[in-house]
Amino acid sequence: MALIVQKYGGTSVGSVERIHAVAEKVKSWHDRGHQVVVVVSAMSGETNRLIGLAKEVNPDPSPREMDVLLSTGEQVTIALLAMALHRLGVDARSYTGGQVHIRTDSAHSKARIMDIDGTRVRADLDAGRVVVVAGFQGVDESGAITTLGRGGSDTTAVAMAAALKADECQIYTDVDGVYTTDPRVEPKARRLDRITFEEMLEMASSGSKVLQIRSVEFAGKYNVPLRVLSSFEEGEGTLITLEEEENVEQAKISGIAFSRDEAKLTIRGVPDHPGVAYQILGPIGEANIEVDMIVQNIGKDGTTDFTFTVHRNELNRALEILRKTADELGAREVEADDKIVKIALVGVGMRSHAGIASTMFKALADERINIQMISTSEIKVSVIVEEKYLELAVRTLHEAFHLDQAA
Ligand code: ASP
Ligand code: MG
Repeated sequence: MALIVQKYGGTSVGSVERIHAVAEKVKSWHDRGHQVVVVVSAMSGETNRLIGLAKEVNPDPSPREMDVLLSTGEQVTIALLAMALHRLGVDARSYTGGQVHIRTDSAHSKARIMDIDGTRVRADLDAGRVVVVAGFQGVDESGAITTLGRGGSDTTAVAMAAALKADECQIYTDVDGVYTTDPRVEPKARRLDRITFEEMLEMASSGSKVLQIRSVEFAGKYNVPLRVLSSFEEGEGTLITLEEEENVEQAKISGIAFSRDEAKLTIRGVPDHPGVAYQILGPIGEANIEVDMIVQNIGKDGTTDFTFTVHRNELNRALEILRKTADELGAREVEADDKIVKIALVGVGMRSHAGIASTMFKALADERINIQMISTSEIKVSVIVEEKYLELAVRTLHEAFHLDQAA
């Protein structure tokens, strides 16, 4: 008998029929003698609908009231799922985040979970009940409702699993696992049986949208075995764990992530002296704009060129700030480019195998794809290329690292 936390996303509970199907699935685990906690998202489209309503009433809604509103989507699905379970003869109880003491900080719309008191849930489980918990929400110290950021139900599930020391946290979604890359770009993409937390984190931060990044961080920190699997088909899905696969003889590359949400800014001819990096990026950071990749190059004439990337949505804001900085520093020019994408090759095999980056660069060069920026970590190499090469670059790398073949 195991304690399992299952999370069903918006599409999986998107209609009455689908809620019945989820109830059947939960019942089958419960019937086999497992203790089951279910975390659900709002019905698909509901959170967006609520955001739309709020904007109609007030274009600049208060973050506190926004969270009161958005948390209602999940309150609907927990009650409906509990009712569906009752109809199948399963004893079940639903709870909002606050009712099971999911305590968060007060950062409305992106709150972090600080603590969960599992006493109530455990008592229900011990009494043979299925517990259904609303994803995406908690309460802060003052009792205000908070939400955890879009896709936050994943994090609720992982946090519940950590608090209850569950044997596994299963994320049921509309794909049947984590793939080597997005199958819409490369049809030969393959489902991975396993991937490490570290790799999954790099994939998620480089654009893979299967899991909310925070949920992966949380799972890694508390070592919660996490499985991504389909709500609609049977299958083993992808297991995300601490251990690397036994077979680390080959240079193991797990996948290719990419992001179209990038934009690049360059400031040229900045008089070079200690502190310029700070002078350029300081004001960007103060405006709460996240900088991803950075390249600095020193010219012969004692000036420096400085390039960095930001989220495409923040390009205009960043550009405005950078133009001001350029004036102050006496820089020659400022340039912006949003026709770029980031492509990242991810794999723990990079640690023990040299030459992976050069294989990557050669494969891109053979297709005459120009690399504009490069950054590396222990288990990742990311490049910035022109947007029009995205598909070609992803397929080329998938082929070059034989990702269509099981390791
Ligand atoms: N309902 C929330 C959203 O749409 C949370 C979630 O689905 O995980 O982002
Ligand atoms: Mg999701």
